[in-house]
Amino acid sequence: MVNENCVFCKIARKEIPAKFVGESDLALAFWDVSPRQPLHILVIPKLHYANVAELTLSDEASMISVMKLASELAIAHADESFRISFNTGEAAGQTVFHAHAHLTSRTPKVEVA
Ligand code: 5GP
Ligand code: ZN
Repeated sequence: MVNENCVFCKIARKEIPAKFVGESDLALAFWDVSPRQPLHILVIPKLHYANVAELTLSDEASMISVMKLASELAIAHADESFRISFNTGEAAGQTVFHAHAHLTSRTPKVEVA
């Protein structure tokens, strides 16, 4: 459930800094350090799961929390056009092996840095 060397576990434990944008009981959201769209937020379960399949099949409550927080932030920060995606596996572009949703939009409601 916790991985000592995982960068997102360290962010969840507040051991390394991140620009937080939302939180719920089981999920945490922060701005992607290297945004690839005008709106680019990461939403993670507080507990460590390697990818979205492991998260969904092991812990439905955390999965629902991730999707609810991502949806709330999409409504708050994007217009009706946004994407919620989970890269899974190296060949699909996953580089951090702690499950995370990318919330991205080309049309944020406000300019974000
Ligand atoms: P993946 O490539 O695994 O789907 O997505 C990992 C994402 O995490 C990338 O978009 C990358 O920019 C972001 N990222 C990696 N390390 C950090 C970090 O320390 N802080 C923040 N805020 N984002 C990070
Ligand atoms: Zn982790």
